[in-house]
Parts: sequence; structure tokens; C-alpha cells
Amino acid sequence: MMEDKKRFMDPNIPDEMSANIRPKTLNDFIGHDALKQNLSVFVSAARNRGEAMDHVLLYGPPGLGKTTLAHIVANELGTNFRATSAPMLTKQGDLAAILTALEPMDVLFIDEIHRLPTAIEEVLYSAMEDFKLDIMLGEGPTAKSVRIDLPPFTLVGATTRTGLLSNPLRDRFGIDLRLSFYPASDLAKIIMRSAKILGMDIDEDGANMLAKSSRGTPRIANRLLKRARDFANASGKSLIDGETIKTTLHQLHIDEIGLDEIDREYMTSIIKNYAGGPVGIDNLSAILSEPSDTIEDVIEPYLMQIGFIQRTPRGRVITDAGYKHLGFEK
Ligand code: ADP
Repeated sequence: MMEDKKRFMDPNIPDEMSANIRPKTLNDFIGHDALKQNLSVFVSAARNRGEAMDHVLLYGPPGLGKTTLAHIVANELGTNFRATSAPMLTKQGDLAAILTALEPMDVLFIDEIHRLPTAIEEVLYSAMEDFKLDIMLGEGPTAKSVRIDLPPFTLVGATTRTGLLSNPLRDRFGIDLRLSFYPASDLAKIIMRSAKILGMDIDEDGANMLAKSSRGTPRIANRLLKRARDFANASGKSLIDGETIKTTLHQLHIDEIGLDEIDREYMTSIIKNYAGGPVGIDNLSAILSEPSDTIEDVIEPYLMQIGFIQRTPRGRVITDAGYKHLGFEK
């Protein structure tokens, strides 16, 4: 049971059919207007100069549009999009193979870039700065270092936590963009857009309710929309209205502000076992049987955003608002 709920709300899980609803141009990308305006200036400038655009670091919790934006950058630049993820790069040669296969001006997307092993990260430094690849060939006394020219390219790195990025790596990104949680009004627009693409009928009431329970996250909004369609179908309706959303949320144990069982379990354990905190991440990870990464990347950012928890130097603390929402007395 628990497993299902968790997997449902986890924005790290890739979406079925996401290719169709993933915006392909800056115009289609909803919200984050200031960021889009800046990005569009950087893209046009690079295009006009005929140069590779500066490297971009995208930062924000999962499901907010980092991969989507990386695709859009390539699309708007009119170049190829190549993607990999740091955990897939285990040897320097893995990265070397990708870099040497790039064509001029290509966009290379590296997801979870904070997880790059140091040895591989070091290969990136000269690649990013001078478009040169420095690698060691062979091992031991016969090993020699070779320097290979790379085509100019744009690295787009995505991370959920800038704190885990080394300074030398961070310094090599000329453009730093931060994605924050979306206001419900933007999520409602995203839901309307996705519904249209997927051929679903949803009314304003339904879209607004869904938006409010999507944890500020487009990926969750899209996923809930698809489940709402299932519940509408099950009751023989073609229109997704407020009533359908109520049923959907109820069946999936999601409350009206988007908190699911894991969120509630997280807060309840701190209240019951630690009198509301402070409690360290390792203890929480043990109690909840969740990796601390998941707690920090998926559960906590939204609870902090809505002011239900605070991270203090001594650990996590549940706020008055958090107590109130769960119906506990402090
Ligand atoms: P991330 O890489 O940050 O985890 P993604 O880029 O994969 O997130 O986005 C998740 C999904 O949410 C995508 O399938 C995309 O359709 C949708 N999405 C994200 N941001 C937007 C946006 N601003 N407007 C419309 N849809 C979006």
C-alpha cells in the first residue's frame, strides 16, 4: 500500500506519455516568466553570434521542468540534444565518449550533476572552459596524457541541490537558473494545456482543485490529471470536474493541499517520536526507511516551502502550521 502511494507522488518517476505534453518551445513553457525572458535573450545572442551558448546550471526540486528546459534550449538554438545522467558516468572514458561524439553547438544535458565522481568532474573542467579533453591513456609508467580538441558545446547541468556542487564546477557555468515551485495559477494552466493535448475534458473547478493539490510541481499535476481521467471514466463521465478531483484525491490518500501519506508520516514521526524536533536526517531516514536523499529532495522542499517544517542546524522541526494542519496539539 505504502509503496504505491509513495511511488505515485514521487516526482522522480518518469511519466508515461510525457513526450507529448512536454513543452517544446519557451513559449509553451508555462510560468517562470523572468527566467524565460533571460533565457530567450541568451539563446538569441548565441545564435546571432554563431557561438555555443554559455553553460547553464539548472537548479530545483524534481519535476519542475529542468529536463524540459534543457530540451527547449537545444530546440531554440536549433542544435542536437544529447542527454546523460551523472550516475551513468562511472569512468572518465564514459564522459570522453560522449564529449567526442558532440557536434558543434550541441547541447549536452547532464542530469543530477552533483553526483559526478570527482575524477570525471575534473575532465569536465577543461572541456567546459577550453573545449579540450584531457585524458590519461593507459596505466602505470606507460600512461600518457593526451589533449583532444572538442567542438564548442553548451553543457546544461541539472541538480536538485547546488550545495553539493563543488565550487570549481559551479564556477564554470555562466548561466545559473533556479526553478521554484509553481503557483497554483500556473499549474492550472499547465493542467489545461496537458488536458487539451491528451484530449481530455476538464472544467475550471477541476483544474483549480487539481492545481492546489499538485505540490507546486508540474510533473505531479500531469500525473494526477491522468489518474483523474481514470476515475472520471470509472464513473462513466467524460468531464473531469471538481467532484472527480475530490474522488481522485480521496482514493489516492492525498489531501487538499497535496500532502500524501509519506508527507504525513514524515511529520507525524517527528511529532510523536521527537516532540516536534529537532531531529537529524539520519534518524528520520532510519525511522521512515527512506534514503536521506529522497527525504531531502522529494519530501522536505515542499514542506519547507509551505512552512510546515524548518531545517535548523540541530535538525528538522515541525512548525505551528504543521501541527495545526495535522490536527495535533503542540
Ligand atoms: P525535472 O527535469 O525538473 O525533474 P521535467 O522537465 O522532466 O522535470 O518536467 C516534468 C514534467 O512536467 C514534464 O513532462 C513536462 O511536461 C512538465 N512540465 C514541467 N515544467 C513545465 C512548464 N513550465 N510548463 C508545462 N509543463 C511543464
